[in-house]
Amino acid sequence: MSFVRKITDCFGAFWTNGIGEVVFPPVCLGCHGLVEKNGAYRHVCSRCSEVLPRVSPPACSTCGHPFHGEIDGDRACEHCQTLEPVFRRGCTAVLLRGTARALVIELKYHRGLHVLKDMAAILESSPHVLAHVRDAVLVPVPLHPRKLRERDYNQSRLLAETLADVAGGTTRVEHLLVRVVDTVTQTAFDRRRRMANLKNAFALKKGATILPDQSYILVDDVFTTGSTLNSCAVVLRAAGIVMLDVVTFGHG
Ligand SMILES: [Zn+2]
Ligand SMILES: [Zn+2]
Repeated sequence: MSFVRKITDCFGAFWTNGIGEVVFPPVCLGCHGLVEKNGAYRHVCSRCSEVLPRVSPPACSTCGHPFHGEIDGDRACEHCQTLEPVFRRGCTAVLLRGTARALVIELKYHRGLHVLKDMAAILESSPHVLAHVRDAVLVPVPLHPRKLRERDYNQSRLLAETLADVAGGTTRVEHLLVRVVDTVTQTAFDRRRRMANLKNAFALKKGATILPDQSYILVDDVFTTGSTLNSCAVVLRAAGIVMLDVVTFGHG
């Protein structure tokens, strides 16, 4: 049996795009199988979507990492106990594992802007994230201009815009920060070295206006040690923001 015939047998018919042209069904980022036409996601098959490592409360009040079992009140996880966050609360939608990790890698390193719709669907079905960001001003973690030229887009900005879209209300995005130091990649650094690496890496954008009664939320793709978000938070706090939280798509 030909490959084409196998596909039509699986799906009944080919996918078509908006103008009626035949297109191949997309491949799942999790298992590399084919994605069903009427599933909730465009790049995640139904089996992988069922096991997406979604986060739900109770969770660490700083980074959003979930706790198992019943937890009373606000509590930081063991990783955040030494972070000394200068923001109030943090929240995340998924753990950075399996297909969720593949989505972030596709967006960030493979120019995979096409996965944003699936990330929007995940955010839209994460009530604790929506409640956390609704009616706030979302501030993306900026890229250094050199990195922005290299990548062409800032994934945190795209995620902030996506979040503002799905959260509704008066949620909006403002670009209040600039990255003034082109830091070397931090993947292999521990928290202390990350903090040193990031010292003075961010600054307030010229002409930025801060509203004292407004709630602001820093947006990044991933919460790793919290060092990047904390460095941004230091600048925004110094600029006069009182109500400052953070949100990330993933934690890992
Ligand atoms: Zn799959
Ligand atoms: Zn934590």
